[in-house]
Amino acid sequence: MRALVTGAGGQIGQALVPTLLKKGYTVLATDIRPLDFPTETRLLDVTDTEALRTLLKAWKPDQVYHLAAYLSARSEKEPHGGWALNFSANWALFEAALESGVQKVFWASSIAAFGPHTPRSRTPQYTIMDPIGLYGIAKLATERLAEYFHQRYGLDVRSVRFPGVIGPGHLPQGGTTDFAVHMFYEARQKGAYTCYLAPHTRLPMLYIDDAIQAILQLMAAPAERLSVRSAYNIQGLSFSPAELEAEIRKQVPHFSCRYEPDFRQKLAESWPESLDDTPARQDWGWNPHYDTLPRLSQAMWEAILAKA
Ligand code: NAD
Repeated sequence: MRALVTGAGGQIGQALVPTLLKKGYTVLATDIRPLDFPTETRLLDVTDTEALRTLLKAWKPDQVYHLAAYLSARSEKEPHGGWALNFSANWALFEAALESGVQKVFWASSIAAFGPHTPRSRTPQYTIMDPIGLYGIAKLATERLAEYFHQRYGLDVRSVRFPGVIGPGHLPQGGTTDFAVHMFYEARQKGAYTCYLAPHTRLPMLYIDDAIQAILQLMAAPAERLSVRSAYNIQGLSFSPAELEAEIRKQVPHFSCRYEPDFRQKLAESWPESLDDTPARQDWGWNPHYDTLPRLSQAMWEAILAKA
C-alpha cells in the first residue's frame, strides 16, 4: 500500500507517518519544509497545482493523507493564503486524485466549520453551520466539495471534524486550541502560563493517539459502511482552560495561570463544546480511549517526562 502524506511535518503528520510505516505502508512524506522521517520525503507546496498533479501521476499513491493547512488563527492573519491552501488546494487535490486513480483520500475537517448558531452541546452531525472564521468557512466549503466529488465522480474521500488535538513532542502553532498543549509545557518549564482564552471556554479535544486511530479506522472501513462523505463528528473529551489548570496543578502544585483573552476567544465561543458522534460510532466503530481529562493528562505527563 502506497501512501502519500501532505503537510507531514505538522502535529498530526508527525504522528501519522511513523504509524503508517509501522503498519507496513510505503510512505512518501511531503511538506513545504524539509522533513526528517525514516522514509522517502519530498518538498511539495500543495498550492502548486502542477507540482501536485505531477507528483501524484509519477508516484501513484493508493491513498493520500492530506494534512497541509493553515490553522484557524493563521488563516485570520493570512486570509488569501489560507483560502488558497485550505480550499483551492483541496479542490486541486481531489481532481488530481481522480486523474491519477488514487483509491482513497483522507483530508481533515474541523469543529471550526460550525458557528454561533450551531447548538453548542452534543452538536449533531447535521445541524446549522455558519462559521465566522475564514478557516471554518474553507473547511465547510471543502466538506461540501468532498461530498460533491463523491456523489458526482465517485471519489472515495473521507474526513473527520477534528476538535483541538493534544499531544506531546510538538508545540502547535496557529490554532485556537494550542493553549492545551502549551499549558502542560509552560507549567513544567516556568510554573506559569498566560492563556489567550477565557477560563470557562469549554471546547472538545482529542488526544493525538485517538486522532491517529480515527484516521486509520475511518480509512480501513468498507466504503459501503460510510454514510457521511462530508466529514464525521468525533468526540473525545471536553474541558475548559480552568479545568485543565486545576488538573495540571495536581502535578505542579505551584502552577499559576493568567487569562488574557485575544481575538481567538470569539472563534472559540462560536464552536461546539461537545459533539454527538453517533454516526462515526455506528459506521466505523469510533470509540476513543482518552475520554477523561485525568486519563489524557496522565498520558501527556508520561510522554513529556519520557522525552525530557
Ligand atoms: P500543522 O499546522 O501542525 O501542520 C500543517 C503542515 O502543513 C505544516 O507542517 C506546514 O509546514 C504544512 N504546510 C503549510 N503550507 C503548506 C503548503 N502550501 N504545502 C504543503 N504543506 C504546507 O497542522 P496539523 O495540526 O497537523 O493539522 C493537520 C490537519 O488537521 C489540517 O487540515 C488541520 O486543519 C486539521 N485540524 C487540526 C486540528 C488540530 O488541533 N491540530 C484541529 C482541527 C483540524
